[in-house]
Amino acid sequence: MEKQTFIDRLKAIVGPEYVLHSEMDLTLYGYDASLEKGKPDVVVLPDSTEEVAGVVALAYKEKAPVIARGSGTNLSGGTIPVKGGVVIHFSRMNRILEIDIPNRTVTVEPGVITLDLQTLLLKQGMVYAPDPASQKVSTLGGNFGENSGGPHCLKYGVTTNHILGAELVLYDGNVIQTGGKSQDNPGYDLTGILVGSEGTLGIVTKMILKLIPAPEAVKTMLAIYDSIEDASNTVSAIIAEGIVPATLEMMDNLVLKAVEDSVHAGYPLDAAAVLIIELDGMLDGMERQAGKIMDICKRHKVREVRLAKSEAERAELWAGRKGAFGAVARLRPSYLVCDGTVPRTKLPEVLDKVIAVGKKYDLPIGNVFHAGDGNLHPLILFDERNKEELAKVHKAGAEILKICADAGGTISGEHGIGTEKIKEMSFVFSESDIDFMRQIKKAFDPQDMWNPGKVLPPA
Ligand SMILES: Cc1cc2nc3c(=O)[nH]c(=O)nc-3n(C[C@H](O)[C@H](O)[C@H](O)COP(=O)(O)OP(=O)(O)OC[C@H]3O[C@@H](n4cnc5c(N)ncnc54)[C@H](O)[C@@H]3O)c2cc1C
Repeated sequence: MEKQTFIDRLKAIVGPEYVLHSEMDLTLYGYDASLEKGKPDVVVLPDSTEEVAGVVALAYKEKAPVIARGSGTNLSGGTIPVKGGVVIHFSRMNRILEIDIPNRTVTVEPGVITLDLQTLLLKQGMVYAPDPASQKVSTLGGNFGENSGGPHCLKYGVTTNHILGAELVLYDGNVIQTGGKSQDNPGYDLTGILVGSEGTLGIVTKMILKLIPAPEAVKTMLAIYDSIEDASNTVSAIIAEGIVPATLEMMDNLVLKAVEDSVHAGYPLDAAAVLIIELDGMLDGMERQAGKIMDICKRHKVREVRLAKSEAERAELWAGRKGAFGAVARLRPSYLVCDGTVPRTKLPEVLDKVIAVGKKYDLPIGNVFHAGDGNLHPLILFDERNKEELAKVHKAGAEILKICADAGGTISGEHGIGTEKIKEMSFVFSESDIDFMRQIKKAFDPQDMWNPGKVLPPA
């Protein structure tokens, strides 16, 4: 089919104003928050499942790739149209369809912004727990696609632990339902396979999410350290004592300085590292738990523990943490966020090795991460225009992921594989493992139309 005819047919499905194909539009949809770039052939903004299904059926007939896109904040190249094709952008499908408090579920379309839902739910005393630091902009569809985590996922689990069901558009435009409102569903756990599949198995047009009641009380502390090792050892010690705080986040000196310059959260500029430790739950017993944590911090040579005395002070501490990626962008024109996970007892050893990688390649590396989950985010700072530096950054990033894999960890805690970490899949999976995943992909996607060039290395 001629390109113009294809575009005209898309216009007939979603309406002419919701099909974008000017050079400028295609360039804008050619990148995300990773370092990769591509270009789609056309972008559509559907308003309903029926419209998505119509677009997909047409793309299938024409053998055109289809790439689902939320807000494009993923950090692994997950929305880059590497082989052209149709980008389906979900900004119009952003309705909260049903809040069912008695059954503790909410049904949403994929384009809902994560924080919008969370703010609305909190007013009704409920929480949707996964809270990526990008929640102000990220969509629930994107969170689903990446199996996103966030500071509160230490206690509550990542996205997959909070998705009960989905509506899925298949490769030929047929629509199926997976899971449902009940906690247990017979048959194969298709929802489980879909969460984190990065748009490579189909497109989700509705999701049923699990709600939990908002905690009665919250206590937030900032523990300040003169050594990264002491901060890391505190993390393992807290969990080893049987305490699971809602969050255990770490920032090192480079990040603290950048955040202070940008967000003014009141962090100490001379500390080697800080931990943000948050407890939540019943008021009863919280003081005692906080006291236990203070004792553990003291045993690991904490310099000072500050307690947020008001909601405003708590919000300030979190504004700093959640603004950290943006803040480091002021230091150098570009940064690469690595996303490896290690058993938390390995944190001190692995962080030492990360620092050594920075020295080896002469690149500044800052660390801001979900320490409680052992989920590291070394931020390698550089200038993308300097091709030599860019090549060094890719090598350094791969080396850091190898260090994580060798320490018994893995190559992504929450940011996915996308295009960026395809080569590194072999650090943690055998050829047979990957081949079996290819068979699953083929069952969902016989002609490789769903987000091609992502997650799996070519056979
Ligand atoms: C400053 C910053 C901080 C961040 N902090 C965190 C963090 O704390 N935790 C974390 O996990 N991530 C974090 N991220 C990464 C990113 O925000 C998350 O991966 C987020 O879930 C992506 O949402 P999005 O709407 O931007 O999705 P997109 O980037 O648009 O898409 C992500 C993936 O999901 C697929 N997808 C999108 N919609 C659908 C759909 N309807 N059906 C099927 N597949 C779909 C896409 O094809 C793609 O593969 C951060 C990113 C930035 C820039």
